[in-house]
Amino acid sequence: MPNMSLTKNEMPLQAADIRNKNFLEVSLGYTKEQAIDEAKRCLNCKHKPCIGGCPVQIDIPAFIEEMAEGNFEAAYEVITRSSSLPAVCGRVCPQESQCEQKCVRGIKGEPVAIGRLERFAADYHNANSMEKAVKPTPNGHKAAVIGSGPSGLACAGDLAKKGYAVTVFEALHLAGGVLVYGIPEFRLPKAIVQKEINTLKELGVKIDTNVIVGKTLSIEELKEEYGFEAVFIGSGAGLPRFMNIPGENLKGVYSANEFLTRVNLMKANHADSTTPIQKGKKVTVVGGGNVAMDAARCAKRLGAEVTIIYRRTEKELPARLEEVEHAKEEGIEFLFLTNPLEIKGDTNGWVTALRCQEMTLSTPDESGRAKPIPLDGSEFDKETDCVIMSIGTSPNPLIKSSTKGLETQRWGGIIAEETTGLTSLEGVYAGGDAVTGAATVILAMGAGKTAAAAMDQYIMGKGKL
Ligand SMILES: Cc1cc2nc3c(=O)[nH]c(=O)nc-3n(C[C@H](O)[C@H](O)[C@H](O)COP(=O)(O)OP(=O)(O)OC[C@H]3O[C@@H](n4cnc5c(N)ncnc54)[C@H](O)[C@@H]3O)c2cc1C
Repeated sequence: MPNMSLTKNEMPLQAADIRNKNFLEVSLGYTKEQAIDEAKRCLNCKHKPCIGGCPVQIDIPAFIEEMAEGNFEAAYEVITRSSSLPAVCGRVCPQESQCEQKCVRGIKGEPVAIGRLERFAADYHNANSMEKAVKPTPNGHKAAVIGSGPSGLACAGDLAKKGYAVTVFEALHLAGGVLVYGIPEFRLPKAIVQKEINTLKELGVKIDTNVIVGKTLSIEELKEEYGFEAVFIGSGAGLPRFMNIPGENLKGVYSANEFLTRVNLMKANHADSTTPIQKGKKVTVVGGGNVAMDAARCAKRLGAEVTIIYRRTEKELPARLEEVEHAKEEGIEFLFLTNPLEIKGDTNGWVTALRCQEMTLSTPDESGRAKPIPLDGSEFDKETDCVIMSIGTSPNPLIKSSTKGLETQRWGGIIAEETTGLTSLEGVYAGGDAVTGAATVILAMGAGKTAAAAMDQYIMGKGKL
């Protein structure tokens, strides 16, 4: 008998006034009983629209059917046929606009909590299984992957499963891309990312850290000197944008990426860390996306009074609703319809205030989007000692500038075929944020998997076996 409850089983959370002072995970995960009860809400309907909503096409009804029977390992096995990072995706995927949006239970009530169930299956496996992934028989071919974010890891995993000797080249000292340097510990514990990376290593994937392709090595060298038959570029979009307003060079101004990297990757919040961070008393975050929420919530945990300023209204906030709600519960203030004009500083060059202007919204244009328009005479100073800019990122131009013939869009995204990931260079593929600009973990993974399939065909088609 399906469970016909109109609402999802609630996710247990750390209380807001406790969690806003620690970096431990906010969501605590379902119990076995909650997971089975939630799984029973799935109707296993004929057309399975949820699968079409998943960029890597996990057989969602099949894994949920196993969960409803308490077969958690079997559920994990179904998920990992399509996804190599289930504990990550169960936590950070925007399910509300993907699989869960298509769930028929969502028509009259809340959809099945697919993300929470995916997370449970992965956590159950990680806690209970001692089994190691089996290294496939080598096929005698070599492929290189640039960048160890979700696109690179997904590409490397799929190639390794086919027997390729895969080396991932990563600029930073730790693998994981945004999963380790961007998304904070309280949303995605780093031990979980590490566990999923270890599984890839068991499959034979080699990860070379501290290698900047374009500086340490070039793509040409990877192909000509090191004999990699195909190369995947998954270098992300980690170059922060600034507003180009006066005062952005003052001390106490960060890009969200720098601020988050100092905390998440370099552990600047730990007493014994050698990485400094300004623990502002009054921190202002500029922007309204997930990255802005993460930066604000980190600053709050470092002890600051935090305000997010956004030039449109709450309705237009691009961040996930859940993240906005969690931020509000944790005591973060929002100033909507407000735009910064200038960052002011003292004679020693430290930030003291943000000069702002109130905005109003125009009637929506043809694209359906209302434009923020400044209100004359509405300028005011907001006292602050730290400003975190979170207004977007773009791909770093290093790979483009060091690779002859690699075509990019004007804004820096690498041009790649949608169905294969092939770039303008033979044997060179690309995917994830490096191609699309800042997007999502699951879209990056999907692009990595698409490219892995195309790279396999390309290499095998050359008749080298
Ligand atoms: C703070 C933050 C929070 C986010 N929250 C979410 C979320 O909740 N849900 C969600 O779905 N998405 C979220 N995203 C977006 C998501 O993380 C990205 O879309 C995804 O990580 C992109 O994956 P990628 O593999 O393309 O690139 P990345 O994850 O950026 O990885 C690229 C890797 O390539 C390396 N690299 C770059 N250049 C070179 C080079 N020249 N040589 C060698 N290595 C190189 C980088 O060091 C990095 O490790 C968030 C992003 C940020 C910044």
